Amino acid sequence: MTAENSTPLEADTGGEPVRLPGGIRSLKELAEWAAGRGAAPLAEEDAGFAEPLAFPFAAIVGQREMKLGLLLAVINPAIGGALLLGPRGTAKTTAVRGLVELLPKVPRSLCFYGCLPEDIEQGGIDAVCPDCARKYAAGEPLAVMERVRLVEMPLNARLDDVLGQPDPHTPHRIRKGILALADRQMLYIDEVNLLDDTVADAILDAAAQGHYTVRRGSITATYRARFVLIGSMNPEEGSLRPQILDRFGLRLWVSGLTDPAERLEAYRRAQTYRNSPHQLVAQFAAETAALQADIQEARERLREVVLPDEVAQTGLAWIVKLGVPSLRAEITLFEAARALTAADGRTEVTVDDLREVAPMALRLRRSAFMQNYAAQREEEDGELASLITSSDDTP
Ligand SMILES: [Zn+2]
Repeated sequence: MTAENSTPLEADTGGEPVRLPGGIRSLKELAEWAAGRGAAPLAEEDAGFAEPLAFPFAAIVGQREMKLGLLLAVINPAIGGALLLGPRGTAKTTAVRGLVELLPKVPRSLCFYGCLPEDIEQGGIDAVCPDCARKYAAGEPLAVMERVRLVEMPLNARLDDVLGQPDPHTPHRIRKGILALADRQMLYIDEVNLLDDTVADAILDAAAQGHYTVRRGSITATYRARFVLIGSMNPEEGSLRPQILDRFGLRLWVSGLTDPAERLEAYRRAQTYRNSPHQLVAQFAAETAALQADIQEARERLREVVLPDEVAQTGLAWIVKLGVPSLRAEITLFEAARALTAADGRTEVTVDDLREVAPMALRLRRSAFMQNYAAQREEEDGELASLITSSDDTP
């Protein structure tokens, strides 16, 4: 949901005390915004955070590759996130929302401008707004520890929404964009192939660097944007530019369940969730807690995980044989293997670890394949078109 299509009355406060929507601080500001004079406010509720009670990740039936890939992506951010590829109705968004529930808490700013204690640690007292400087001096907290939020990128997001724009009321400051609000959170782009190219580039640049800079006239501001990026797309609804596809670490195929027993179980759990989300969450509370602990432990162990030279050589040989030009191939392959090793409670990557993650790290990276992929799709569409035309002609 973007700021433009949310009205003050619709702003979801998520069960918290009612306050002015969109981080607006005064009725005057609200009136100006409503009259179209102010810039659209962009605060947490407008950035599209997910519903609080998500379908438990642990309750998702089947989809082993998707679940493993997503867990590896949050254990080791160096993997470069993940792209979920599959048709609609295959639990992609459900999985991402459930994944967020498994992550350890992070500090969240209490301030309109999103100041954090770490700003002061790194840049001194001038790095925060006057309000926060006063709070800091008075020993009041600038942030609270909160669970990680899922920031869902609206498909109609403009570059200004994504990067930030000058605050109309204090024009020397820039109002944070979605990318800055997603710092330390998880950023999800559903149907990334439908996103504007300029916006996609800006997101991927920020994701790769962990920060970005906005320049508007004489104002320059740099923001942290350290988030795990998860994208999803339905390959039947348009392709993704290879340059964009390449920048997602893991590429995970998500397919419909084929085993009737699994389908039935998935149906039952979906029914339980629809009737009572609390009941399903409670049913999987033990599994959820275990996954949370595993992720935390794997993250801590990751620092100790080493990749022996001979194992790395094997991986590089595969990449050369496949003819993958992008250097991101080995980064993702090796970092995913390290995450898997850590998740398995070990500290030395083996060739078997590489084997396990190689399909998700290396598929859809060969430029020749990408060209053929597009060509084959056109060929198939042409066949279909001629089939439809000729059957129309049949008496
Ligand atoms: Zn502040």
